[in-house]
Amino acid sequence: MQEYNFFDTALTYLKGVGEKRAALLKKELLLSTYGDLLFYFPFRHVDKGNFQPIASIIDDSSYILIKGKITSIETVGSGSANRMIARFCDASGCIELVWFKGIKWIREKIRINEEYIVFGKPSSFNGKINFLHPEIDPASEEQNLTETLLPFYSTTEKLKNSGITSKILARITKNLTLQAEGSIPETLPDYILEKFRLIGREQALISIHHPADHAILQKAQTRLKFEELFFMQLEYLFNKQYRNEKVQGFVFGKVGDYFNRLFAQLPFQLTGAQQRVMKEIRQNLRTGHQMNRLLQGDVGSGKTLVALMSMVLAIDNGFQACMMVPTEILAVQHYNSVSKLVEGLGITVELLTGSTKASKWREIDAALQAGSLHILIGTHSLIEERVQFKNLGLVIIDEQHRFGVEQRSKLWSKNDIAPHILVMTATPIPRTLSMTVYGNLDYSIIDELPPGRKPVQTIHFNDSSRLRVFGFMRKQIEAGRQVYIIYPLIKESETLDLKDLMDGYESIVREFPLPDYAISIVHGQMKSADKDYEMNRFKKGETQIMVATTVIEVGVDVPNASVMIIENAERFGLSQLHQLRGRVGRGSEQSFCILMTGNKLTHEARKRIDIMVKTNDGFEIAEEDLKIRGPGDLQGTRQSGILDLKIADIVKDEQMIRVARDLVNSILNNDANLDNPQNIRLKRYLQIQSKKRRDFGSIS
Ligand code: ADP
Ligand code: MG
Repeated sequence: MQEYNFFDTALTYLKGVGEKRAALLKKELLLSTYGDLLFYFPFRHVDKGNFQPIASIIDDSSYILIKGKITSIETVGSGSANRMIARFCDASGCIELVWFKGIKWIREKIRINEEYIVFGKPSSFNGKINFLHPEIDPASEEQNLTETLLPFYSTTEKLKNSGITSKILARITKNLTLQAEGSIPETLPDYILEKFRLIGREQALISIHHPADHAILQKAQTRLKFEELFFMQLEYLFNKQYRNEKVQGFVFGKVGDYFNRLFAQLPFQLTGAQQRVMKEIRQNLRTGHQMNRLLQGDVGSGKTLVALMSMVLAIDNGFQACMMVPTEILAVQHYNSVSKLVEGLGITVELLTGSTKASKWREIDAALQAGSLHILIGTHSLIEERVQFKNLGLVIIDEQHRFGVEQRSKLWSKNDIAPHILVMTATPIPRTLSMTVYGNLDYSIIDELPPGRKPVQTIHFNDSSRLRVFGFMRKQIEAGRQVYIIYPLIKESETLDLKDLMDGYESIVREFPLPDYAISIVHGQMKSADKDYEMNRFKKGETQIMVATTVIEVGVDVPNASVMIIENAERFGLSQLHQLRGRVGRGSEQSFCILMTGNKLTHEARKRIDIMVKTNDGFEIAEEDLKIRGPGDLQGTRQSGILDLKIADIVKDEQMIRVARDLVNSILNNDANLDNPQNIRLKRYLQIQSKKRRDFGSIS
């Protein structure tokens, strides 16, 4: 494997990088080999022939290049306000260059009346446009570089202060790319290069740094993005294929008595989507390979029923099943609704949470180990060491975003053969994330709500319209409906949140006094038993208004509640708002979601509110959320590696992800083990990855 040595060569061997620079590059940018530097892509290129006239500069935050002379330099202020200001002029006008740091070093470097090229981002200060800490180099030096497109690299303050500017990095990468010729092996098969008209890897890696022109730069970017996304998909799908074909799983071969009787006594018909998903799951459970499936469906789409039917399938085949949910309130609710649905079938169901009494726990434990307990529903408690099943065949995990991957695997390890896993999430996952972060899971989607539901109407009100909102509440309550009022909960300041909530509660009590109205309150600092008591009062209709923090966010089901009022809605994220809205619209009456905000909203908050008012579609909302927040903030993305992407962007390059995924699918369909000679490069790539990570082919 001679050819890989180039990538592993230490940077100290590179012209222009001595021990000192190498140490700095390693410390500041984690670059230590030729390969590291080659993949340290410039964030933009500036056309050297394209200087912007100073008079035309506006404060629009993009990087520009100007050429001119310094006419005067002065140092003003003292202490932390000490700064150096240079007046920089071209034929069209003048602008100020400002430095707060490294003044001495810059001062020695620049001379009045000599020609310089300045690169930076114009900013405005006290109504005046200037350049803060721009890069500045003598124009004469620039002319020595033959290329017209100059790469710009991100650096750190420390690097800049040590003289390693973007310009210096450009010189170093120039040396590197000169040396790279003939040393970079191709990773994609020729037929793929031809089909998608991609340039070779070597040319791409050289041109991404030092392109001859815009056209080749673009081709280099396309090639490298494609490579990155393609290999990500290849790993995911190869892994998934491996699991689906090689990892043994329990066979749920038959549909038995329990299932048929449950089906017969359901109070409603399955929706088309529920039927389709059940079929997908049943097919999966028959194969003898472990299921690892993500079930997505908007709030209220009837995932719980699908979960129950899958559990009953396990029981029909002689196995036990469990269902793990994030909160105690939810566990109780699921326990109650499951118990009701299986009434009279002879299926045993128990509840295990943090507040289960020791005597009750002993009873559950005995039944679990004897195998007489069929379904166990609970919170985190389910993954405790002491919980031992006789033959756990299926694990349902509800509201997946609250559980880490680590917790999932704990459940698995209770058996020699891993149980089937069905992860349910009510926060729809944007398509790009289902193809990336969750790319190695199978997934099913319930994209249809049970019939007769009217879409929730969402309205935005300012705080000044509160009286109208009270009037509206009164009308709804008179019509027999119930109302939620939700206050934000931000962990950093629980006392403050509680105060907000209590103030709100008091004003509601004043506005809606006894004996005509009864009000419940639930928040995180209450005892669990008190919370349950209040929740139950509301559920039974004994109270008409429920004032609460987001503790009720997930899964609470009170079909008669038709109004969801969200206070300080600007403080909530989109997916949380959507979750909260999903608490209403569960019955047949028209429901409403009222978003209360202050008068002044940030641009982003306004956008979130507008999206909520505009659509009820959870998938659309998830996409928007991804666009606004970026993948870094979304659940699940941290461990997934998509944040390590060097050039592709999972939001902007969605189409390319799709193409890469389809391509990988068709390659693996025809050549599952990549034995075809034309796929030799792909096989080699996977082998190298598996050595690096040592987990290849194992369960992900
Ligand atoms: P999810 O968990 O997806 O948010 P649930 O499973 O809690 O949704 O279902 C929401 C409500 O819809 C429940 O009251 C449930 O009984 C009801 N439901 C589920 N499936 C159907 C169906 N096919 N037809 C009518 N109602 C249904
Ligand atoms: Mg649910």
